[in-house]
Amino acid sequence: MIEYENLARLNEPFFAHLETEASTAIRSGWYILGSRVAGFEQEFADYLGAENCIGVASGLDALILSLRAFDFEYGSEVIVPANTYIATILAILHLNLTPILVEPDPGTYNIDPNQIAKCITPKTRAIMVVHLYGKACNMTGIMQIAGKHQLKVIEDCAQAHGAEHSGKKVGTFGDCNAFSFYPTKNLGALGDAGAIVTNNSALAEKIRKLRNYGSAVKYHNEMVGYNSRLDELQAAFLSVKLPHLDKIVSHKQELALLYEKHLDIRFKKPIPANALDNVFHIYPIRHPARDRLRAYLLERGIKTEVHYPISPLEQPALAQLRQAGKLKQRPEDFPITQEIHQTILSLPISPIHTQANIIQVIDVLNSFL
Ligand SMILES: *Cc1c(COP(=O)(O)O)cnc(C)c1O
Repeated sequence: MIEYENLARLNEPFFAHLETEASTAIRSGWYILGSRVAGFEQEFADYLGAENCIGVASGLDALILSLRAFDFEYGSEVIVPANTYIATILAILHLNLTPILVEPDPGTYNIDPNQIAKCITPKTRAIMVVHLYGKACNMTGIMQIAGKHQLKVIEDCAQAHGAEHSGKKVGTFGDCNAFSFYPTKNLGALGDAGAIVTNNSALAEKIRKLRNYGSAVKYHNEMVGYNSRLDELQAAFLSVKLPHLDKIVSHKQELALLYEKHLDIRFKKPIPANALDNVFHIYPIRHPARDRLRAYLLERGIKTEVHYPISPLEQPALAQLRQAGKLKQRPEDFPITQEIHQTILSLPISPIHTQANIIQVIDVLNSFL
């Protein structure tokens, strides 16, 4: 049996160190916004080459607080890829802003910079880009368009810790950028956790208040804030795992290279990685008989996943908004997105997998008729 992922096995090399850190944190008696959160924030900012990092409760909260920090007026439009994980779109909706969905480039699965310009209206205020599956977006092109139209850029880096565009880490291009440390991500906590990264110190200060009831000084609430704090235990765990992130990424890149070299061209593979522009959170392939292929693999002991079986526009949550007249865009307007959701399949690519495991997956795939 080749599993798709196994979090216990994934974290096993860190068990002893995680247990020591947990014990120290427990015995310290300080559980919220203490030295471990501040320490991890500094370490992660340094790793990325960014000025500020603010730990929050989840990736979704990181997206919400990033957008909230700009105080866009009601009815503002935010451009977002149609094939993202729904969290990116939910953040826009939670702030009563209007998501304007855009088709991805079917080669990279990332937002197509050529499509962005067509969607800009006088109400557009921001572009949310998603480095989907671990592949860095063309940030040069995106920042150019944003600059020309004076739009803010928010990067959703939930799947792309460590990925680079032109030698610079993702999460350092946009105005305010969101990370998730959900346990399955390339840098995963042992529970929910997220962070916001920005080089704008005024914005960082505002977000530090927003995550803590709008308060910098205890019992002084300057704005309508949230309670969304990274906790000391998760921060301690993340500090244990961060020094191993580059190793995790290079292992995944080696596995991806095996697929790239040996997997039959009948399967539509991601375009080959160029240096660190893809950290392979996921290794997606496309095949017209995806469901039959998935069953074939499972019969032969190989587990796969689908990211994602239903596109955000087809979700009941968004259909309700459409019925209420709050969302104009319909699934049938997005043929590329539809095709991706119908044909995509995620193959095993985890630190728990060996090269021999991946060769076995490739052999079974290549024998599919
Ligand atoms: C995981 C993920 C999120 C949400 O992160 P959570 O920590 O689960 O809230 C947001 N966007 C993308 C692209 C993700 O993959």
